[in-house]
Amino acid sequence: MKKYLIIIGAAIVLAACGVKKENEKNVVAVTEARPEVVEEVFIEPEPELPTERPIYQETETILTDLIHTRLEVNFDWTKSRMNGIATITAKPHFYTSNKLILDAKGMIINSVSMDGAALKHVYKDDFLTINLGKEYTRNDDYTVTIDYVACPDERVTGGSSAISSDKGLYFINPTGEDPDKMPQIWTQGETEASSVWFPTIDAPNSKTTQEIFITVDEKYKTLSNGKLISSKKAGKGKRVDHWKQELPHAPYLFMMGIGEFKVVKDTYTRPDGSVMEVNYYVEPEWEQYARDIFGDTPDMIKFFSELTGVHYPWDKYHQIVVRDYVSGAMENTGAVIFGDFVYKNKRELLDANDNSTIAHELFHHWFGDLVTCESWSNLPLNESFANYSQYLWDEHRYGLDQADYYADQEADGYYQSAQMQGYHDLIWFDFDDKEEMFDGHSYNKGGRILHMLRNYLGDDAFFAGMKNYLEKNKFKPAEFHQLRLAFEEVSGEDLNWFFNQWFLGSAHPILSFTQEVDAGTASLNITVEQKQNLELSPIYKIPMEIAVFDSKGKHIHKVVVDALTESISIPYEGELEGYIYDYQQAILAKKREKKPREIYIHQYYNGERYLARRDGLKNGAKGTTAESQQLILDALKDSFWGIRIDAIVLTKKLKEEKREEGIAILKDLAANDPESSVRAAALSKLGKLMEPQDVEPMYVTAISNDQSYDVISSALSSLGKENPEKAIALAEPLESEKSSKMLTGIAQLYSGYAGPEKYAFFENALNGNTLQGYDKLGVIGAYTGYVAQQDYEVFEKSYDMYQSLYENGGMYTQMFMPQFIGYIKKSCGDNIEDLEKELAAYEENNDAAYANQTRQKIAKFEALKLKFETFEGELLEKKESSEH
Ligand SMILES: [Zn+2]
Repeated sequence: MKKYLIIIGAAIVLAACGVKKENEKNVVAVTEARPEVVEEVFIEPEPELPTERPIYQETETILTDLIHTRLEVNFDWTKSRMNGIATITAKPHFYTSNKLILDAKGMIINSVSMDGAALKHVYKDDFLTINLGKEYTRNDDYTVTIDYVACPDERVTGGSSAISSDKGLYFINPTGEDPDKMPQIWTQGETEASSVWFPTIDAPNSKTTQEIFITVDEKYKTLSNGKLISSKKAGKGKRVDHWKQELPHAPYLFMMGIGEFKVVKDTYTRPDGSVMEVNYYVEPEWEQYARDIFGDTPDMIKFFSELTGVHYPWDKYHQIVVRDYVSGAMENTGAVIFGDFVYKNKRELLDANDNSTIAHELFHHWFGDLVTCESWSNLPLNESFANYSQYLWDEHRYGLDQADYYADQEADGYYQSAQMQGYHDLIWFDFDDKEEMFDGHSYNKGGRILHMLRNYLGDDAFFAGMKNYLEKNKFKPAEFHQLRLAFEEVSGEDLNWFFNQWFLGSAHPILSFTQEVDAGTASLNITVEQKQNLELSPIYKIPMEIAVFDSKGKHIHKVVVDALTESISIPYEGELEGYIYDYQQAILAKKREKKPREIYIHQYYNGERYLARRDGLKNGAKGTTAESQQLILDALKDSFWGIRIDAIVLTKKLKEEKREEGIAILKDLAANDPESSVRAAALSKLGKLMEPQDVEPMYVTAISNDQSYDVISSALSSLGKENPEKAIALAEPLESEKSSKMLTGIAQLYSGYAGPEKYAFFENALNGNTLQGYDKLGVIGAYTGYVAQQDYEVFEKSYDMYQSLYENGGMYTQMFMPQFIGYIKKSCGDNIEDLEKELAAYEENNDAAYANQTRQKIAKFEALKLKFETFEGELLEKKESSEH
């Protein structure tokens, strides 16, 4: 009886779920009927049985093989539309068919034809189904021509956190209304938005060769994939550029970029002596810095070609910087697009460059463009490698310490994002939305997993495995098993244990290390416990190196932790001086270690990797012994800047004469360290260790003499806390610097301390085009803080400013605008509250004139608050409707 009822219950739940997907409205009726039945069924709790098959995001079934895609396009800039003719050559993949089904999102389809004869077709729900007129076998190619109009601005769009929109084709300032933004057109295909601008099979497992004929006004430069075959005048001031790529790639990698760009030419010489173009497309005012920004690209092409053992496979490698970009950067084959955050002048590049992003997109040309993940569930085959390329480049160019330093930040990025968004398998088959794949797992965690694999297999086997995978799967889609098989073939080892726990498992190990030294038997007895949540994660198998230092020197022991509690005994000779777990610091795990202080101090001086030395420093410095104090002083002079910064943080622990010694070193670092981040940190720390009047001249010197904007900003901020008038006076001449970073630093200073006379600074900064990418958001934030501290007049002016920032702002500005508006609205409320208190006091004192004035001011703030409230409501409504 119970069994029977459960089946009914399950059937109803199933029905409800099924209905929900089809038609939202009917759900109510079904779920309303449900409770009665369910109550009767579950009198006693039963173990929960599945009621439907789990979600499985399968790879798109290949019905048709695309062979060649030929596009002819021109633009209607005033309507933000593109007229296109797509000529597509294809064939049935295996089964005979008389149909071609294409993705075509939000288009107007004018005609479909074959050899001039019209073909019957149905265009519905973003699918174009073409009746080919007869059956074709897998040996028969056919070619269809589609005359269409792409209307990207007339579609409702979605997006992800990595890619904030899926409009596919973007017209930026197309009618030139904004004098500070160069009109431009660009595309963004990933994940499945290329089918907004050309009909195709928009899936990562389809590949096609490509050519595009782009008709534009002669003043424009164009960029697309492949080689520029010809550039011909087309009358009436027009020109047709013909780009052709003869090697197949996935439709999401198709790209166009159009605008009055300057093209800065660079080259890469292949091993056979042939020269390949490597050009940088930038706005005119950035022409002089293009080589400073992108100049390492040819070296990177050489490095990655040698490292993978597969030579850079494409015709050319061009990079373009666009405005209002919806992501960081995108690996369109041979035509990579970047957001404007990469625009940096020579001085800004002293503080930070974007080589990690440049390397990331370049490495995709092997992992992503040459071998493509066959489905979005397999996205880590693209993104984990691209993420790891950042490590590989750092290691090659800047050394292991710097590579490890940024790798640790990558790992933190994974821990944080997983904590916020939840854990899932790296190869994630049951996501709700493909955009969710672009998260801290596919990128950060995947990169760390590859690093572990390299550390386990050794460099030779790892890079040979990489090469094997690339060669076996080039110009094809791949799934993660193919990666495993490639490494297995090279190493000769069954690697399922590694791939199962890291690629098909979720979360990460939490390892607790404790140890006892048995002097009698001269052995170090170590206990390693796996403390992770076993509902989320497996019990891991973790190969690990443990270094033991004794009277005879250093000994590396290779051990395998594969039990929940693992006991390891390592003998030593003579005196046991130190020990370091996970000697290469390669394991992605939260590690809890408890060692005596002197062992940590030993670890700082004897560790090989940055993380071991950092942990040695941080834990070794906790004591007040002479050794702990000396440790901090020594670390201030470490050869790696990352450790010097860690040590600067610890100088507050220095006592008496050691403190004086520390201050002397800090002064030297603040003035002379080659790394600007160290100079900035030292200067800021001196402000906390010294008397204001003693440190002030150092700030002033740094602001006038240092080349680094980071150092100047840090000095301005520190000086602002002690002497705001002086800081503002010193900041004034810097207001005209063409530097996004500098303006951000000044805005932060003014946000806290400046009066209404600095409104013009914010106005110029926010209306100009110097601020880039996230800096603009930072300055809007500073502006909001500034406005909130001013009087009514500034509040009133800010309303129009926010309106215009929203209307002309990019994706991110619009995304965060409700929060800024909400803050100002709240500040209006705070002002009203304060004024009401004042009013009560005036009334009590019968101060009629002031009371009246105050009442008027309250009324003004109330009216303005209402305006901001309405504005906020509109923005939230827009945000909500764009999310669905
Ligand atoms: Zn990427």
